[in-house]
Amino acid sequence: MHAVTFQAPGEVAVEEVADPALQAPDDALVRVDASGICGSDLHIYHGRVPVERGFTIGHEFVGTVLAVGDQVERVAVGDRVLGTFHTACATCTPCIRGDYHRCANGRTFGHGGNLGNLQGAQAEQLLVPRANLTLRRVPEGMSSDVALFAGDVMGTGYHAVTHAGLRAGDTVSVLGLGPVGLCAVQAARAAGAAHVFAIDTVADRLAMAERFGATPLHLTDDDPKRTVRSATGGGVDVTVDAVGDAGPLALAVSLTRDAGTVSGIGAYAGKGEVPLGLAWLKGLTLRLGLANVIAHVDRVLALMEAGILDPAPLVTHHMRLADAAEAYRVYDAREALKIVLTP
Ligand SMILES: [Zn+2]
Ligand SMILES: [Zn+2]
Repeated sequence: MHAVTFQAPGEVAVEEVADPALQAPDDALVRVDASGICGSDLHIYHGRVPVERGFTIGHEFVGTVLAVGDQVERVAVGDRVLGTFHTACATCTPCIRGDYHRCANGRTFGHGGNLGNLQGAQAEQLLVPRANLTLRRVPEGMSSDVALFAGDVMGTGYHAVTHAGLRAGDTVSVLGLGPVGLCAVQAARAAGAAHVFAIDTVADRLAMAERFGATPLHLTDDDPKRTVRSATGGGVDVTVDAVGDAGPLALAVSLTRDAGTVSGIGAYAGKGEVPLGLAWLKGLTLRLGLANVIAHVDRVLALMEAGILDPAPLVTHHMRLADAAEAYRVYDAREALKIVLTP
């Protein structure tokens, strides 16, 4: 079969690789009908997240079940399914607590030997371990473009908002309007946020946030700190940082009201200065970390099926798997919000 493999920083290839085969009784084999390119794939593309040369990448997928092991009960051959971006064992201590994102035996699709040695979804076929927990049937009538978001990007936006304890009537600011930030805008509105301020520097992304019901604010042209504070009488109840850097986290601290909550969902890879004294003085609650998408996927699917969450406008490009090298170039140049690859 064909698959998109990492070659070297700035280089992916579409290669002929071995077909996957069932290995464990709770494995499923899936024919991939659509896969997404994600911001975290760019970390691999640039070599910031090390992946072996020739490893298949990608972790967002919708497909059709081709085969299942004896212990797979929740999906069957022929089912149209979507997956979460990682697997979890359901039996370790974090899993028993419901913290699937901290599973001691978790494996992430398409992230190389360091994250579970699980080949990725930008391929014609995919081996899915722990299929009872990893896969869900796609609701009747839901497009692949929409379903693709349930197991990663929309689950992450939803997590950012619920993890912050957002209540109906709250005011919210969202920093960084990539797909996760834009999904957080939608999730905040769906959770009853009275007012969402959406902050970025890219005009198209600000326009998309406005379409989703937010007030767009340009990071440098609009003085978001002053605008948000004066509109809310001192700061928002909840700020979502969907960038994942010290600068945005510092801005989040100043945008949030006394005793409010900052929810950091971006991947904080670098180091930097955050005004801890100010955060302490204001009595802020900080909530950080990777999203628990397995815990959220059914609710996210239900909200998308009801049309309350709708990531479809985020899909700006459809490209062929064979054209993955060009797709990565386009995505890296920030010419696309979400690229969906089809075989
Ligand atoms: Zn992703
Ligand atoms: Zn576990």
